[in-house]
Amino acid sequence: MSTLAPALDGALVEQLRVAVHGDLIQPGEPGYDEARRVYNAMHDRRPAAVVRAADAGDVIATVNFAREQGLLLAVRGGSHSVSGYGTCDDGVVLDLAGMRGIRVDPAARTARAEGGCTWADFNHATHAFGLAATGGVVSSTGLGGLTTGGGMGHLARRCGLACDNLVSADVVTADGAFVTCSEEHNTDLFWALRGGGGNFGVVTSFAFRDADFSTALSPTRTTRAECEANIDWVRRFEAALRPHSMEGGVRQLHGPGRPGPGPDQLPAEL
Ligand SMILES: Cc1cc2nc3c(=O)[nH]c(=O)nc-3n(C[C@H](O)[C@H](O)[C@H](O)COP(=O)(O)OP(=O)(O)OC[C@H]3O[C@@H](n4cnc5c(N)ncnc54)[C@H](O)[C@@H]3O)c2cc1C
Repeated sequence: MSTLAPALDGALVEQLRVAVHGDLIQPGEPGYDEARRVYNAMHDRRPAAVVRAADAGDVIATVNFAREQGLLLAVRGGSHSVSGYGTCDDGVVLDLAGMRGIRVDPAARTARAEGGCTWADFNHATHAFGLAATGGVVSSTGLGGLTTGGGMGHLARRCGLACDNLVSADVVTADGAFVTCSEEHNTDLFWALRGGGGNFGVVTSFAFRDADFSTALSPTRTTRAECEANIDWVRRFEAALRPHSMEGGVRQLHGPGRPGPGPDQLPAEL
């Protein structure tokens, strides 16, 4: 973390504002407090500028600007970093939340998702084709931070970690170059992206291998009796599906949570 706010060259900031398709927001401008906020409110940082990238061109322009100005660059996808890596003091935040396009290729059973997608975006797009890949257990987590950090989720026992299903990524590196990496091209970068954490570049899109997957059910209640009834339901569900391929798990959370569907609301006939 830097301690002193470097004086930004106003003319260069205005050049960047014009160059990018998305918004550039500075302290004192409308929306600044909302733009600098991250999921973990412990990190109350004040960046010198927040760029809401609209496309890979905006990412390249912002990376080049931060490097040339000697500014810290914080990359933000789903904003779920507990350590607050999606923000910084005095530097530039590159917010990818506007880049959430997804293209599913049902024939190849792959899906290419832009770097700001959440797992809710990805699951929604792939589910329509009966496909899925391992994502996080909370759907608002960003695909970017989760995948570059490895990525554990409900489908991990069947499909591996999120990063295991990555087949290629488009990346803007620190020198502003746009490269594609995979098992065949830029293999070192591809290796690093699969669990090495961030800082190897800004991923503008991730392509994932998908598995056939139809329905996910999540019966969740809070009392012991209801949990026992749910577990009994899951056992009958597993037995009914055997020998078909399936992935299951039961988590029991006791507490005054929001009630979910109870056993009485689940299908009685399996
Ligand atoms: C409520 C909650 C639930 C979680 N559940 C799970 C879980 O089930 N499984 C699991 O494995 N982890 C889980 N995590 C941890 C989560 O995967 C990490 O915190 C991850 O970094 C969040 O990614 P993000 O994109 O949302 O975060 P952000 O704060 O947006 O980004 C964090 C960092 O990730 C990197 N990054 C993000 N996007 C990109 C990109 N497009 N290109 C390059 N780098 C990028 C950058 O270094 C960035 O600074 C959870 C976290 C929370 C808060």
